[in-house]
This record gives sequence, structure tokens and C-alpha cells, in this order.
Amino acid sequence: MGEEVTRCDVLVIGAGPGGGAAAIHAARRGLSTIVIEDHPEIGTPVHCGECISELAVANLELDLPQDVISLKVHGIRVLFPDGTAKKLTEPGFVLEKHLFEQWLASEAEEAGATVHLSHKLQAMERMEEEGRFVGWRCIGKGEQFPIEAKVVIDASGVAGVCSRLLKLNPRPEVIAGMQYEMHDVPTDGYLDFYIWPKYAKKGYLWMIPKCDGRANVGLVTEDKKGAVRDLDQFIEDTEFKELKMTNPPWREDGKSVRGFGGTIPISGPHEVTHADGLMLIGDAAGFTSPLFEGGSHLALKSAVYAAETAEAAIAAGDVSADRLAAYPVLWKAEFPPYHKILRGKTALYNLTDEDLSVMGRCFPEEMNEMGVSGKAKVIFRLMVRRPSLYFKRVVPAMLAFGYSRAKHYGW
Ligand SMILES: Cc1cc2nc3c(=O)[nH]c(=O)nc-3n(C[C@H](O)[C@H](O)[C@H](O)COP(=O)(O)OP(=O)(O)OC[C@H]3O[C@@H](n4cnc5c(N)ncnc54)[C@H](O)[C@@H]3O)c2cc1C
Repeated sequence: MGEEVTRCDVLVIGAGPGGGAAAIHAARRGLSTIVIEDHPEIGTPVHCGECISELAVANLELDLPQDVISLKVHGIRVLFPDGTAKKLTEPGFVLEKHLFEQWLASEAEEAGATVHLSHKLQAMERMEEEGRFVGWRCIGKGEQFPIEAKVVIDASGVAGVCSRLLKLNPRPEVIAGMQYEMHDVPTDGYLDFYIWPKYAKKGYLWMIPKCDGRANVGLVTEDKKGAVRDLDQFIEDTEFKELKMTNPPWREDGKSVRGFGGTIPISGPHEVTHADGLMLIGDAAGFTSPLFEGGSHLALKSAVYAAETAEAAIAAGDVSADRLAAYPVLWKAEFPPYHKILRGKTALYNLTDEDLSVMGRCFPEEMNEMGVSGKAKVIFRLMVRRPSLYFKRVVPAMLAFGYSRAKHYGW
């Protein structure tokens, strides 16, 4: 008896936000679509602060069901080291992220896609006919393998499995993210982002409010080994110390209380985001926002571009890299200039606590719509109060805040 082979037009690797969205859009375009997910359940363990802007939801035409929304929020409040607080008001949502990802997968199934859990991609072989590339034969752990697909969409997150298997890109630099679920947390509906280098080296801390007084309290930091220690110290030194900490609802009862998190790529979009029959999306492509490191909006949007490109290539009977070159053209035209913003972020993290606080005090109460004259006023105030900051590249640092806005895929 011959080996049983599963065949499809599009194989999506990973059922995070990128993979779920890619499957929805590929299936809605009439492509036979399979999603494989390494974990036995979609969305857990959660490795996300769980916030997404209203603009992202509108941009993607997502009709979010009530149960995936934990809380509607007004925007971000940035707290500087001396306690100065300035707002970036633009509405959004804190999600129950695992339910959001499960909902995306169910929408994909409704559109005709098939989802296979506990399936891990481990190897890929090129398929050719008369010297012409026609697809990938994918091998891994899980009963549906081998799976033959005309196009593979790699949505495997920071694991970047296809880059690794095919040696397409070097491993990205990463930053560590970690948080606890806390209770009875006071909130006025803003996400609190603390730029407090003492606890978060080249990163920041957050309090992301959820429903029923719950909140994610966490940090991202370049000091990967010290992440838990520094977060614990932050909690010990602040009002959070008095609050109750539990495991999140998706973790089994009876387990000792632990934080949850993961890593985030921070070296920017990969050099190679497509190849013969392959497109990388979301974190697997290095698409995260440079200042506050959100990635869901970019993952969801790149998924739409990859599905569109796959449809056109499959219809033309040509899934070669040349044909899929339309994909990087699409994302490059839309996504913000990562390396420019990164320069601002680097300048920001070169400032001392005192410099950061001076900068914070020069910002208006509402940073969202500063406009050209607003920015000029801030620069003038900075130059009057601390002229030496000019040489520390405080202007690009300041502009980095503008790029953390939703319209620049900041959250
Ligand atoms: C602590 C923390 C907080 C964050 N907070 C936010 C936030 O508030 N807002 C925001 O927008 N972003 C946030 N992010 C970033 C956000 O989580 C990611 O950018 C987003 O999840 C990327 O989506 P994705 O679909 O590309 O990848 P992922 O969500 O990582 O999904 C990848 C999936 O692929 C699966 N997979 C991996 N390898 C294989 C394989 N070989 N075979 C099969 N399946 C595989 C994984 O199990 C996973 O389910 C945060 C990240 C961290 C770590």
C-alpha cells in the first residue's frame, strides 16, 4: 500500500494570530487550506500582554465577538522614572488572547480550512516537476504528515521554523517578556507603560487592565536571565505589592502561581520574507513594533498580504519566488520604517533616568496629536531645560513615541 499523503493549496504553520488570519483569508479565497499547530490547544500558553488597538481591529475588519474582549480601553499612559505621566489616547481592547486565537481558528474552519493540533513541522523537501518548483513536501510530528502544499505560510512566531529549516535568515535578536495575572487592580481604563530602566533594561513595564479587576503586570527586558527577578522587585517596590496574584484562567488549577510570557524578535523584518512557495508572516518574519514591541496587528495584516499573494500565484500556476515577490512589495509599502524607529528607540534607551523624566515633563498631557507645531514646542522646551540632550539625540527618541501610535502599527 502506498504512503498516505495529505495535499492542499496552502499549508499554514502555527495557529497564532498570524496563522489564524492567514487561514481565514486563504480559505475565503477558495484555496484548500490546512493549519498545523504544535500545541494540543490553540492559544495556550498565552505569551502576550493581550492588547490591540481599535484601529487594528477596524483595519482588519474583525467583527470581534464579546467573549474574546476582556476590556475596552482608552489608550496608553506612559510613566517616566520620576512618576511624570503623559497620555497617548487612542482606543483599543484588551483581549482574552487565547479565546481570540481560538475564534480566528474557528472562523478559518467556517471558511473551509482544516486545523490539525499537535502537529509540528520538522522538515521540508522541495517538489519539482520537469525542473520547475511546484511545492513543498512537509514532514513532522503528527498523523497528517507528510503534507504536500503548493504554498507554505510560515506563521510559527519567534520560532521561525522555515527560516531555520531552510537557512533563509539568521536567528533574530530577541527580548524577553514576562507577566503575572493580578487582581483588584485599580484602573481608569488606560494601559500603564512604565519606562523605568532600573527594572526593565532597554524595555518597559506594564499594567494592562482586564475585566473584573484583573490585570497583566509585566515587563520586557533585554536582560533575559533577570526578567523574573526584576519584575518581582518592581512589584515589591510599588503599590502592586499589596495585590493578589493568581494563575491565569487558562492554566490548570492546582499549579503553583507562575508568570507567563515568551520572547519577541527585535532585530526588525527579516531580509528574506519569501522564497519558492513560501512566505513568512508575523513574528516569523520579524514583524514587531520597535518601541513597545506589539506584533499582533502586523501579524494579522501580513497574513492578509500572504493569502492574497498565494491566491494570485496559485491561480497563475506559478508559485516560484519570482511570483511571490509581490508579497514583500505589499508589506514594505504599508509597514512603518522599522530601522528609523529603532534609531529613536536606541537613543531613548541611552538616556539616563533624569533625562527621561525631563523629556516626559516637556511632553504635553496628551501626546497623541502633537502635530508639527506641538513637536516643535516640545523640542524648544527640551533645549531650554537641558540643551545637552540635543547631543544625546533626544529628538529621534521623542519621535519614537509618535511611531508607537496605532496608525503606525504600534499596538
Ligand atoms: C510577554 C509578551 C507580551 C506581548 N504583548 C503584546 C501585546 O500586548 N500586543 C501585541 O500586539 N503584541 C504583544 N506581544 C507580541 C505578540 O504576542 C506577537 O507579536 C504575536 O503573537 C505574533 O503572532 P504570530 O501569529 O506571528 O506568532 P505566535 O503568536 O507566536 O504564534 C505562533 C504559533 O506557531 C506555533 N508553532 C511554532 N513552531 C511550530 C512548528 N514547528 N509547527 C507547528 N506550529 C508551530 C506556536 O505554537 C504558536 O502557536 C507580546 C509578546 C510577549 C512575549
